[in-house]
Amino acid sequence: MAQAPTPADRSRSIALQAFKKMQDLGITPTPENYATWYAFFAGSNPDLCAEIQRLDDSGALGAEDTSRLHEAFLGNGRERRGLAAVSAQIESAMRVLMENVGEVEQGAQNYGKALSTLSGELSSHGQDELGTLVTMVLGETNRMADLNRHLEERLSQSAKEINRLRQDLEVVRVEATTDALTNLSNRKAFDSALRNAAIEAGEKGGFLCALMLDIDFFKKFNDTHGHQTGDQVLKLVAKTMQTVVPDGCLPARLGGEEFCVLVPKLGLQQAKQIGETIRKAVGSKTLRNRKTGADLGAITLSCGVSEYVLGEALTTFLERADEALYLAKRQGRNQVCTQIDLDREAASNT
Ligand code: GH3
Ligand code: MG
Ligand code: MG
Repeated sequence: MAQAPTPADRSRSIALQAFKKMQDLGITPTPENYATWYAFFAGSNPDLCAEIQRLDDSGALGAEDTSRLHEAFLGNGRERRGLAAVSAQIESAMRVLMENVGEVEQGAQNYGKALSTLSGELSSHGQDELGTLVTMVLGETNRMADLNRHLEERLSQSAKEINRLRQDLEVVRVEATTDALTNLSNRKAFDSALRNAAIEAGEKGGFLCALMLDIDFFKKFNDTHGHQTGDQVLKLVAKTMQTVVPDGCLPARLGGEEFCVLVPKLGLQQAKQIGETIRKAVGSKTLRNRKTGADLGAITLSCGVSEYVLGEALTTFLERADEALYLAKRQGRNQVCTQIDLDREAASNT
């Protein structure tokens, strides 16, 4: 009993038929031509078979047809199979990529590493197109990472800038409420503190007093010793005030050689005592010219004190301290007068 032909026998038989046909038709046995006639005798490509049959029947089959047939029926197929393979690899690559991305999910750095690995693998398999694609993606990822880094740097820069602006703002805020020459609170800060203190006094029913102070004969001092030396005196008076006033009091320079102290929670007599302390402290200073060492004499100041009456206008409260100050001036300077002295004066005049 004859044995059934093996696949190898069949292949050999098909191969012989293909070579014989090419020989008959004078066709060069290139791999493409061989593949075409092999496919024909194997019957593996029905469309190719039908076309060859048609050409053969019409007696028009020649050597030049074989390469055209290969291109038309096998070339495309090979491309299709190639594309299918590449497509499968892309799918697999994407799957690996997605798995990697899914696994890491820790930002662009790890994502880049996964792509880098993938690119290496694909290149070693000769999948240039896919390798190029992944290289592009990798490039894009690197660009993203660069952008992220750039963004991070810019954020860090912005944070620094914001910090700097905050510090600048604090400097401006301090400058806006501070007298540049003496570093005491200025009129704006004093007015704000006065409003708050008046509200607190109203709510809690506590005392609130104001001292108004003015340097005696200061114009003469400036005229004699110069404006710059006068400025040093203003600084000295400010420093003295800051040193001697109790905690909770707010000394301020209202302008020129006029100062004020806000005295919360203390009554008129205690406030007057603070005025006396400042007056004596300033009066006890011996002034000397820094360069020449010459004695500049003593500086004195006058002070007026008022006590806040709940519900009155704050300007009225301060004007009363001012009036007491001018009473002190009228009575000979270098002294402290209160609103009670004003009342006494008014009573004596009637
Ligand atoms: P009184 O005892 O009546 O207060 O006399 P006075 O000379 O102090 O008063 P007056 O208001 O006539 O003069 C105030 C002077 O204060 C005028 C000006 O020369 C001086 N003065 C005002 N502001 C400044 C300043 O910022 N620096 C200096 N050095 N002097 C100032
Ligand atoms: Mg004055
Ligand atoms: Mg004065």
